[in-house]
Amino acid sequence: MSRLLERLQGEIAALDAQSLRRRRQIAETACAPEQSLTLAGTTAPRTMLGFSSNDYLGLAAHPALAAAWAEGAARYGTGSGGSHLILGHSRAHAQLEERLADWMAPFIPEAQSLFFCTGYMANLGVLSALGGAEAVIFSEALNHASLIDGARLAKARVERYPHCDIDALDAMLGACDAPVKLIVSDAVFSMDGHLAPVHQLLALAERHDAWLVVDDAHGFGVLGDTGRGVVQALGLHSERLVLIGTLGKAAGVSGAFVAAHRTVIDYLVQRARPYIFTTAAPPAVAHALLASLTLIEGEEGAARRAALQARIAQLREGVKAVLPADGSAWLPESPTAIQPLIVGDNARAMRTMAQLDARGLRVGAIRPPTVPVGTARLRIALSASHSRADVVRLVDALGVALSQPMQEAA
Ligand SMILES: *Cc1c(COP(=O)(O)O)cnc(C)c1O
Repeated sequence: MSRLLERLQGEIAALDAQSLRRRRQIAETACAPEQSLTLAGTTAPRTMLGFSSNDYLGLAAHPALAAAWAEGAARYGTGSGGSHLILGHSRAHAQLEERLADWMAPFIPEAQSLFFCTGYMANLGVLSALGGAEAVIFSEALNHASLIDGARLAKARVERYPHCDIDALDAMLGACDAPVKLIVSDAVFSMDGHLAPVHQLLALAERHDAWLVVDDAHGFGVLGDTGRGVVQALGLHSERLVLIGTLGKAAGVSGAFVAAHRTVIDYLVQRARPYIFTTAAPPAVAHALLASLTLIEGEEGAARRAALQARIAQLREGVKAVLPADGSAWLPESPTAIQPLIVGDNARAMRTMAQLDARGLRVGAIRPPTVPVGTARLRIALSASHSRADVVRLVDALGVALSQPMQEAA
C-alpha cells in the first residue's frame, strides 16, 4: 500500500482510538420520527425513534411537496442544464425568488432574494463576495462551520467576538476603521437553541456603519407568526440586514436563499462564486419549495408550529422533572426546536446516548471541541411530527439514564 494511503489510515485509526470516528447510517425509509436505519457495516436495519432531524415542521416527507416536486419535474425536467447565469435559471427559480422577496419585504427595504443550492454555499457566497480585501468580518464565537468557512474564503480580515458579548463587539467595531465591516452571526445557535441578540447586533450595525449578516437556518419556518423566521419574530427592519435562510430544514426540501436590499442581490449575482460556478438546482426543487412556502404561511403551517411549541413545552417540563437533584445535568433556556440537555463530561454523554439507543431512541451526543469542555450534551431536536407519546418515551428513558450514579460512567 502506498505511503499516502497509510497516512490516511493512520489518521482514521487515531480517530477510532479516541471514539471520534463518525459513522453514517442508511435511512431505509422517509424522514419521520420513526425510521428504519441501518448502521453502515451492519446488515440488519433497526426501527428507531429519532430526535435529531432538522425537519422541524415535519414537511420533509409531506405528500403535497412530493406531488409538487413531481409536477415540477414533469414541467421542467430533472436537470436545470446549466448555471444560473448560463441557461439554468428557470421560471420556477425566478418565482421562488420573487416569493421570498415578498416574504422579506416588511423587514428589508427594497428586498430581493437569491436562491442557492445549499445554505453552506449561500454562506460561502455572501461572505466571500461582501468580505473583500478592504473589509473586516466580525464573527460570533459560536457561528456555524459554513460561516467560518465563508470567512476563511473571504479576503477580509476576521475577528472573532465572544458569544453574545455586545459590549466586546461594540469596542471591536469602534476600534476598526476599515471601510467595510460585516457582523456575522447565527440567529439560532445550532448546539444550544437560543437566539442571538439580533436587535442589539442591528443597533451596532447602524451605529458603526456595518452590514449585519444573519444566518436563520433554524428559525426560518419555525419562528414568527407566519414562519418568516427571526426577522418576523423580532420585528427587524434595516437595509443593512443580509439574511440567509435555509430551505432543507423546516421547509423540508433543499437549498437556501439570501434576502437583502436589491443592490446587494445584484452584487451577489456578479460576485458570489458559489452562485455563479455551479449548476443551478433542479427547477423541480424550486417548484416544490413554492408549495412548501404556501404550506408554511397557511393554516397547516400555523398548526404545525403550534404542535412543535406544544412538544417543546412538554419536553422541557418533563425533562426538568427528571433532572438529578445534584445539579449535574441541566436544560438551558431555549425557545426553539433545539433543546440541549447538558450532562457535563463526555463519558456521561456517550453512556446516556447508548442507553437511549438500547431503547430504540436516537439522540445526538455533542462533545468538545464542538461545544465547550464540561458541557457535553444530548442535542434533542423536536419536530411537529413528534407525537405526545414520542416525547413521553424520551423523557422516561432520560429519567432512567440520568438517575444512575456518575461512577458507573467509568
Ligand atoms: C444547516 C446549516 C447551514 C447549512 O445549510 P445547508 O442547506 O444544510 O447547507 C448553515 N448554517 C446553519 C446555522 C445551519 O444550521
